[in-house]
This record gives sequence, structure tokens and C-alpha cells, in this order.
Amino acid sequence: MAEGGKRSELIDIRQFLTDWVSVVDPCTITRTDHGSFRDYALKTTNISADMLEELDSVCSLQSLCGEDEPTSVEDILSNIPAETNLESVAAQEKDLERRKLNSSYESRVLTRLKYRDNSGPWLHNHYDVNHFESGGGSGFTGPEVIITIHVYRRNKRKLLHAIDVLASQKLTALKDVITCIADEMIVGEYSDIPEADHTIKAKEMFKSSYFFIENVFYNDMRDPLCKDYSKVIINWAKDPNRQLPSYSAKKMEETTFYDLSVRIGEPYVYVHQGDCEHVISFSDIRILHRNECHDVLQYPIIIEDPRNITHSIMCRVCSAHCASWLTYDSPLTPENPCFFCETCFRMLHYDSEGQRTVGKFRAYKYPQMRPIIKRIM
Ligand SMILES: [Zn+2]
Ligand SMILES: [Zn+2]
Repeated sequence: MAEGGKRSELIDIRQFLTDWVSVVDPCTITRTDHGSFRDYALKTTNISADMLEELDSVCSLQSLCGEDEPTSVEDILSNIPAETNLESVAAQEKDLERRKLNSSYESRVLTRLKYRDNSGPWLHNHYDVNHFESGGGSGFTGPEVIITIHVYRRNKRKLLHAIDVLASQKLTALKDVITCIADEMIVGEYSDIPEADHTIKAKEMFKSSYFFIENVFYNDMRDPLCKDYSKVIINWAKDPNRQLPSYSAKKMEETTFYDLSVRIGEPYVYVHQGDCEHVISFSDIRILHRNECHDVLQYPIIIEDPRNITHSIMCRVCSAHCASWLTYDSPLTPENPCFFCETCFRMLHYDSEGQRTVGKFRAYKYPQMRPIIKRIM
């Protein structure tokens, strides 16, 4: 791991795997045989099989729970113990009851809460380790490297996603899991025809993008209409007066993380939708441990998405509904751009026949990220 904001030495990820596999005990990284740890313990200690069985049951996590004790997060949060005289618990119980009886009070409370539900990553481990145990998903055939990558918001230092990818995956697997509002925007300006069918998203029309890692541009060229964004930059950098290192380009869909050499903590770049620029950084490279998710199909896994706790952008007129329109240069708004819900947008800018009632302005559909994030988490 990089410490104190420093970057690490250059790490060849394929070499990293080779170096570690020679020194790591296979039973700590593979789960192909569920009994391997037991066999290993029997082989390397003087403990008998019966004693091991007893130790296993006495030291299991289940033995820490009482008989009727709830074990899931949902059960723990919804079961308030009756025999308590803590005032904070009594107040919480009263408030939950009031929310149940009064839906408008509940919605007022929910809009003010930082954590609105129990589905966030702060309460759940997104590694569905049991999925493998129950026979679902696919296991790994050999040792694998997991890489944790932090993707930051457009032109900001705030985190957008933290993602675990397999080193054997293509860079396109990472690109496909990054969710940015620029990709979700509905293409086109709709002030003349607000009732038109708004279905084409920017990511369906404009698929070009690149990662810039250690002086190499990795372009997504999967679609025939994709443009090589890097060409113009590479030519620009060739001017000797700029004194820049020589840059090269490769295809994102032909490169796996094993083909990369990276520095942990070094800021690299992801660019999409023309000029939507995100800093990305590698924060951890490790050998897959036996207690991590062993279902290949679940990767890449979004392990953190702080936007799940951010509030939706509300309509600037009623403040009651989420914004679904964005206007520029509307003479009726004190802000530019300005956000509206469907109803306020129509009532303010159009008459009952659907004709404009105000002068020139531009209107775009505004997608809310919260429901989109809900779908991907
Ligand atoms: Zn973006
Ligand atoms: Zn409104």
C-alpha cells in the first residue's frame, strides 16, 4: 500500500503474481477444496481430527450468538429490546412508530438522513462469499491478483467509486463499471419538443474513451465509431520544444491488468465523453485470499460508492420532487443552469397546449444518479 500520499515503485503486476505465488501457501489463497485448511491443520499440527472438530464448533462465530439473538443487520436494527431503560432507545422507538403512522413525516425525515437505508456498503460486505459455497458462480482455477482502484469525480478530488478488479480482466471491464453522470445524460436539446421520447443516453452514442497509465493511452476501440482520442495528444507531445516523454497508444480491449506496470498512489487519468476527465489511482494490489469472493463473474466489484449517501438534486421551484430537467438561459430563473421537476418545468415554460410561454432557452433531460447507482450496487 502507498503511505502518506506517496507513490510506490513501479510494480509489474504479472511479476507480482509470480513473486508471491512462490512464497504464499496455496491453502490460504484457494478454495477449490473446502477441506484444505482442515487437512493442512491435521498435517502440520499434532491435533487429532476429533479435537479439531471440537475446536471448530467451540470457536465458530455462531457460538458467540445467543439462541434468539438476531444475526442480520436488518433484524438487529428493527428489533428494539423491550427490557431497556435507555432514553435514546425509547426516543428511537417512538420516532420509528411515528414514521410508520405518518408517511409525510417519514419522507421529511428520510430526506434529512445521511444514511437512508441499510443497503449501503457501510453495512454490507459486497463480497458475496456464500455464493461460491452454495455452488453458484465460478471458482478460480489458480492464484489470482486483485487490484483495488479508486476513481474520482470529474475534475474533483472526491471519490466516485472504489472498485476491485481481477488482474486477468481487460481494462474495458473497469471502464464498463464506472458510472458517471456524463454517460447518463440524454442526448439532445428538448425545449421545442419536451414531450419527445428521451431514451438515447450519451454512453450509447459516444463510446470513445481512454485510460492514461504510465505514458500509454489505452483507447476503447470496441465500437467501429469510436475515435482514437490519444492521436492528437501524442502528435502534440512530439514537439521537442515541449520536452515531454514519448507517449504511445494501445487498445483497452486487448490489454489486461497483468500487462500493466503501475505505481500505487500515482494519479492516472480516465477520459470519456470528449472532455470528462477523472483521476484514477491504484490503491492496493494483492493475491486473492481464500476469504474473498471467489466468484469470477461478480468482478469487477464496486466496494465503495459515496454517492449512495448523497442527496438527489431537488426541483428549485417546489423543492418537493427530484429534478428531471435542466435549463440554460431561461429568463424565469435566477440561476443558470437551473433544475426543475417535470411538473414545474412544464407549468413554468409552456401553456396548456404545450406551446412555449417564455422566450428562448435551452432544456435538457437531467438523469438522477441515485436510482442508477441503486441498480448497479
Ligand atoms: Zn465522467
Ligand atoms: Zn417542482
